Amino acid sequence: TNTRAYNFNPGPSALPLEVLEKAQRELINFRGTGMSIMEMSHRSSTFEEIHNGAIARLKKLFSIPDDYEVLFLQGGASLQFSMIPMNFLKAGQKAGYIMTGSWSEKAFKEAKLFGEPYQIASTKENKYRNIPALQDIQYDLDAAYVHLTSNNTIYGTGWHDFPDTGNIPLIADMSSDIMSKPIDVSKFSMIYAGAQKNLGPSGVTVVIIRKDFLETAITEIPTMLKYSTFVENNSLYNTPPTFGIYMLGEVLNWIEDKGGLSEITKLNEEKAKVIYDVIDRSNGFYTGHATPESRSLMNITFRIAEELEKQFLVEAKEAGFVGLNGHRSVGGCRASTYNAVPFEACQALSDFMVEFQNKHQ
Ligand code: PMP
Repeated sequence: TNTRAYNFNPGPSALPLEVLEKAQRELINFRGTGMSIMEMSHRSSTFEEIHNGAIARLKKLFSIPDDYEVLFLQGGASLQFSMIPMNFLKAGQKAGYIMTGSWSEKAFKEAKLFGEPYQIASTKENKYRNIPALQDIQYDLDAAYVHLTSNNTIYGTGWHDFPDTGNIPLIADMSSDIMSKPIDVSKFSMIYAGAQKNLGPSGVTVVIIRKDFLETAITEIPTMLKYSTFVENNSLYNTPPTFGIYMLGEVLNWIEDKGGLSEITKLNEEKAKVIYDVIDRSNGFYTGHATPESRSLMNITFRIAEELEKQFLVEAKEAGFVGLNGHRSVGGCRASTYNAVPFEACQALSDFMVEFQNKHQ
């Protein structure tokens, strides 16, 4: 069929239709070069323009101050779990990790290979239903950095305010909510994200890093695992994922055309609201996993009483909804409503949920 699915995949996930159509138009002969982006040198002036354009647009749309570098890396957000301690955590040194879900756990595990990470706060006992209250977090002044996960893709929680860690560098994994709303980048020494949720296809990892933090990095590590290698070479030390960078640049263009992050946030809030409202008005038929004050704008997680849950997922699939199964580690249902998921898809899901409840309760 020719119609697009209601795509709620958690990542890789929906891309803007306009971007896909443009990429299709430009695929075979990119702007008169006689070849696709995938077939041209990453050292060509044509690619260089795409590459630098994407970096410039990211800086502008996300209001990144001048004392930060923007890098495109490979290895996914998962490689950042290792690169961060490898570059910034010396043997015997401490680093504070705020534990809000499985991705924080994975980041913590890697840091143990390099230094002495410790858990500053954790909401594991509450099944990761919430983000810790800012006033409950104590910082160890010796810590090399503090790490947090801004949006918990699996549990469906997100930070709405970030802690002020003073002189301790704050690092955030923003894989599942980067560019979903404006944030104060200057609070962070480093931000990283895999592109495959809000920014483009998989294969590109965005790293935003403050120059003075970078200067504190350990130098005796492999070239390809050192941030400075990518800074010194404008992320062109080796062959980058050229097509992914092109797509990322086009997604940023699309965000700009939509009116930038302030408009995108409004839309994201409306999209999440039509689904959360159904949960809240269902008299317990749907139960949200996240506590209301820690709810994510991007991943809406909920459960339905045992047998009906399976049936919900089957009927939703038949009705054209894709990607609503919860993460394999937790089960349940999850609707990922990233930037490129249209409001209409969220409204359709909301209507479907109401109908399903009416039919089955
Ligand atoms: N962090 C978060 C918050 C994620 O959601 C994911 C992927 N779902 C990752 C890290 C891992 O990303 P990658 O697959 O790009 O390594």
